[in-house]
Order: sequence, then structure tokens, then C-alpha cells
Amino acid sequence: MFTSLSGRTAIVTGGSRGIGKGIAKRFGAAGLNVLVVSRSLDEASAVAAEVGPHAAGFAADVTNEAACAAMAAAAIDRFGSIDVLAANAGIFPAARLGEMTGADFDHVISTNLKSSFLTVSACLPAMKAQGQGRIVLTSSITGPITGYPGWSHYGASKAGQLGFMRTAAIELAPWNITVNAVMPGNIMTEGLDGLGADYLAKMTASIPMKRLGSVDDIANAALYFASDEAGYVTGQQLVIDGGQVLPE
Ligand code: NDP
Repeated sequence: MFTSLSGRTAIVTGGSRGIGKGIAKRFGAAGLNVLVVSRSLDEASAVAAEVGPHAAGFAADVTNEAACAAMAAAAIDRFGSIDVLAANAGIFPAARLGEMTGADFDHVISTNLKSSFLTVSACLPAMKAQGQGRIVLTSSITGPITGYPGWSHYGASKAGQLGFMRTAAIELAPWNITVNAVMPGNIMTEGLDGLGADYLAKMTASIPMKRLGSVDDIANAALYFASDEAGYVTGQQLVIDGGQVLPE
């Protein structure tokens, strides 16, 4: 489908479960070496074993600057380059205004938004030296397009990622580094499942395609943004939601 990505290297944060696991497996199937990253080395390594021999697990908390630098160093040590960064790690705890504390807000912004800055910054020296790179952020429809009770911090973080993306795309274009974002709707993952049966039924009913998305729906788009064929696409976002945000 695309020019071979064999031998190139991707870092996938939040790769131990859900969408990140789907991206890691899709990237591996496309021939990329994959560093699967989560806070749990055991879980990241288990996914790496599923991805195949050209994959490894690494433990890093994406809110921690030194851990992000160690993550980038590990990819170079193990595979020799960083060609693709899928900055996907994220959390979606719910707390309504009036109940949400400043610490709750900071934690979500740090995990979902500041992590984009920290992981991109850590990978930049290698990408600049190579004169090419692909960065794919996992944003959301919630925040940039829609809202949902309990997710004011989450929505702010996901809209913030798109603001970060646009300036990063301009700044990094001279090095042939592209920065794009996928915007998933409701994708069936462990994280989404944790929101409960009522939430899942309500969301499914509101989706014109009448099904939740699969992790492959997102992974295929991430692979497109990582491909040579997307080399002239930067600063863009792609909604993948079964039509959920379309007005009836
Ligand atoms: P899951 O909860 O299933 O997986 C989250 C992943 O992120 C895990 O691998 C987790 O590993 C990792 N993670 C969480 N916090 C950190 C951290 N501080 N440092 C490193 N890794 C971390 O989530 P999903 O797969 O559902 O979501 C993935 C991304 O997609 C998120 O950014 C989310 O906002 C976004 N998204 C998801 C949607 C959905 O419907 N599922 C919809 C729209 C966007 P560990 O806990 O071991 O660190």
C-alpha cells in the first residue's frame, strides 16, 4: 500500500494498551522497528513480544522530562534512529467543575498535553540530524470539536495538542519533520470500557455508523501520517469517528 518503512524506527507512547497497542502492531506489521512505551516495563515488553522481533518495551512516564530523554536514547541505542514518534499516551479521568481540583487539572494537562512537548523535544535532535521525521499526536474529538461532562481538563488538553501541533509543524518543516494529529471518536479500548456500559450504549447510539471504532481504525491513519506518501502533509488533523461529529 505504501512505500516500505522497513528498517525505520518508531516510538509509540501509551503502547501497552488500547490505541497505542494497535498503532505499535500496525507499525510493526509495516516493517518498522518499534519501541513500545508505557509506565510498566512488563506490559510494554509483552506488547513488544506480540509486535515481533524488531520491537522492544521501555518504561517511561511521559510527564517526566528525564524519562522522555531516556526513552529517545533507548530507541537510538536499540535501533539506531527515531523516524516516527506516535505521542499517544493519555488519560481520561472524569471530574465535573466544582469537584475538580487544581491537581486533577494539572495531572491531565501534564499527561495529555505537556507530554506531547516533552516527547517531541526528546526526539527532535535525532530527527533533525537525519533531516526527516514523522510525528503523530493522538488528540480527540472531545475538546477540539465537542464537550462532555467531567472532561473540561481533558478537552483543554486535547484542543491544546492541536495548537501545539500547528506551530511545531511550521517550526520543524525545514527539517522535513511533519507533525499531524489523529482525532479519534469513541474507540473500543480498555480505557473506554472503564467508562461503563451506559456510556458505551449512549455513544454507540449517537454514531451514524452505529458502532464504536476499533484501534485499527486509528492505527491505519497513524500509519498514513508516518508514511513517505504523507510527506507533504503537515499541521493537519484527521477525525476518525464513524461520523459522530456530523450534524444530523
Ligand atoms: P488506555 O487507557 O487503553 O491506554 C492508555 C495508555 O497510555 C496505556 O498504555 C498507559 O500505560 C499509557 N499511559 C498513561 N499514562 C502514562 C504516562 N504518564 N506515561 C506513559 N504512559 C502512560 O487508553 P486509550 O488507548 O483509550 O487512549 C489512548 C489515547 O487515545 C489517549 O491519548 C486518549 O486520550 C486518546 N483517545 C482515546 C479515545 C477512545 O475512545 N479510546 C478517544 C479519543 C482519544 P501505563 O498506564 O502502563 O503507563
